[in-house]
Amino acid sequence: MKTEMDRILKSATVVKQEAGDAELALINMQTLRPLAADEVFTFRLAACDDQVDRDYERFTSETLEGLAGLFVGKSVLMDHTWRAGSQTARVYAAGVEDSGGIKRLILRCYMPRTEQTAGIITAIEAGILRECSVGCAVRRAVCSVCGADQTKTCCPHIPGREYDGQLCVMELDGAKDAYEVSLVAVPAQPGAGVVKTKRYGGAEAPEAQEPQGAEAPDDDILLAQAAQELEEKRYGGKFV
Ligand SMILES: [Zn+2]
Repeated sequence: MKTEMDRILKSATVVKQEAGDAELALINMQTLRPLAADEVFTFRLAACDDQVDRDYERFTSETLEGLAGLFVGKSVLMDHTWRAGSQTARVYAAGVEDSGGIKRLILRCYMPRTEQTAGIITAIEAGILRECSVGCAVRRAVCSVCGADQTKTCCPHIPGREYDGQLCVMELDGAKDAYEVSLVAVPAQPGAGVVKTKRYGGAEAPEAQEPQGAEAPDDDILLAQAAQELEEKRYGGKFV
């Protein structure tokens, strides 16, 4: 039986991108009618990489390649503040890029430029919507110390601890499924809004204590922050 426990969420970063002809051809494989360059807004998401992350997990490069294929065509969901009725952005291409020895899954996304999406596009261009989370599932989570697949069995090793000088890391191996990509507004408090959670489904692990009562900031506050950041960009100064 498969449950929500399969889902792994990782944070990612939004990067701007221009749509050339080659990109446009790929985009138009996803659209009902061909779109012209000035009708689309495109951006890149630097999603998961093959480095050990803050959860002491790492994707194998084979997993990243597998996920690239699975993410094409998937929706990009918007933070509730900018939700425009229905989801409007989509992943039209994906690939693994090597930068300085780090392999990273890059998702290329597009959104039609309409009255409804103007606010979202402004928020991305202003850097307000600069983080996102990607949801995916893997076939195996393998302990680097003993090799136990955590989806089948539970070993005594705790990710992040050392055993005889060897760091325990969970290797996320084998792309199984790709779910949504969600763009989130970044609130002023560092760390808030960062998505973390997962579980492999093999066994119950003690969950780290999350601070309670950390409500999402309401729309008015986020919009005020967005407006302020835009002003700061425009005038190059900080408002006190
Ligand atoms: Zn182990």
